[in-house]
Amino acid sequence: MNKFYVTTAIPYVNAKPHIGHALEFVQADAVARYHRLINHEVKFLTGSDENAIKNVKAAEEAGVPVQEFIDKNAELFKQLGEKLNISFDVFQKGSSPQHHKASQKLWELCKHDIYKKEYTGKYCVGCELFYENSELNENGECFEHPGKKLEEVSEENYFFKLSNYTEQIKKLIESDEIKIIPENRKHEVLSFLKQGLNDISISRSNERAKNWGVPVPGDPTQRMYVWFDALNIYQSGIGFGSDEKEYEKWWPADVHVIGKGILRFHAIYWPAFLLSAGLKLPKTIFVHEYITINGEKMSKSIGNVIDPVQLIEKYGTDALRLYFLKHVSPFSDGDFSEEKFKEAYNSDLANGLGNLVARVAKLCENNDINIRAISKTEAGVQNKIIFWLPEPGLEKKYIEQVENFKFNEVLNIVWQQITNLDKKIAEFKPWDNENKSKEEIEKFLADDAVLSIRDIAKLLEPFLPETAEKIEEIFKGPKVKASAPLFPRI
Ligand SMILES: [Zn+2]
Repeated sequence: MNKFYVTTAIPYVNAKPHIGHALEFVQADAVARYHRLINHEVKFLTGSDENAIKNVKAAEEAGVPVQEFIDKNAELFKQLGEKLNISFDVFQKGSSPQHHKASQKLWELCKHDIYKKEYTGKYCVGCELFYENSELNENGECFEHPGKKLEEVSEENYFFKLSNYTEQIKKLIESDEIKIIPENRKHEVLSFLKQGLNDISISRSNERAKNWGVPVPGDPTQRMYVWFDALNIYQSGIGFGSDEKEYEKWWPADVHVIGKGILRFHAIYWPAFLLSAGLKLPKTIFVHEYITINGEKMSKSIGNVIDPVQLIEKYGTDALRLYFLKHVSPFSDGDFSEEKFKEAYNSDLANGLGNLVARVAKLCENNDINIRAISKTEAGVQNKIIFWLPEPGLEKKYIEQVENFKFNEVLNIVWQQITNLDKKIAEFKPWDNENKSKEEIEKFLADDAVLSIRDIAKLLEPFLPETAEKIEEIFKGPKVKASAPLFPRI
């Protein structure tokens, strides 16, 4: 059996989750569910980055002990995952003793590339990263956090010989041994590598780390730099340093799903740490863009941060999942407004899918239809040939698009099937029992309409799992059970 290991990025838990986190959860979940559908054995990991200085600062501002503060926020991330029907198997906390132990193990394995030196640099607390002047905007601020002054930091730290790995990483990325999707992000990494890599600081004094984070093995005065340990959550969550058999089974990751802001860490630092430690490398990094709100960058200062939980409570889980997957392109910034969201809901779900399901169910009920077969896609999945789509080449396209994370294009294919079936019904007119025999009508409904809907439900499973299940229930047979509308019009 093929194994498939997919991760989300590991978010800082310095605040409660916003809609951008929901986007990434949903994208990664579609990947995980697709691989389960095609009979891969899947491990799906998410977690919380709990060792960052900005978590400590946020806790101090809130006047709450750090552990209590991050536990509470981590729980909110977990709950968001559950509300979005995200099928993760592991939620790994960065402050867990098991993770600390795993990170100390990684440090020991990298020890031959670690040395101590005095360092002064400009540090962005938002990014948890030192920047060169050439990497800052005209006000001397980082591009991810404009308006935030950088701190000038001077102290003795441990450094990692990142410069040793420039050529090796360049080759791995050029050859797609570590495949970065999309292509423009691959070029971004390669052009960064062209400038050469500097060694990086991978520890903080206890004082600056506020005694928080993973202690450096053998040096009680220092804590690990958060990115050194945070990336290792991908390993600690599947047994690295605690259950070697489990770790051997799942590592390396087949896909890391990340946002564009943390590409460098995943495409350069992470492979370098792993190479240094003599461990296997992740196979693919899927880099998504961000969500803007009414055309503006989401930010606390603009006050346009949207709480995904409120949207789920108001419109339902699959309505939000559909918006993220069909109406947001993974490879360009997508915009969210409640207006656009409602429009998409009404046209795709209330009038599109929901209406089709209700219509066919009603016709089947009126004609007392017996369901006598399974659909071609269902048969395909059972026989591991997987999908069936009516036009030549369409299955291949569906698979290709999912495997390249083009969820919007996959869903356009599925919605085309919905439109086609609507058209077929309008043309056949199964309600016209004056010009058609009972047998003709029964045959059309049972063999064409119902089985097409069940095909559609199967194709939707990775994306709208709850809706797919409801549709499968309605058309399971032996009789069709008409139900309340799946998506009442807003
Ligand atoms: Zn920054």
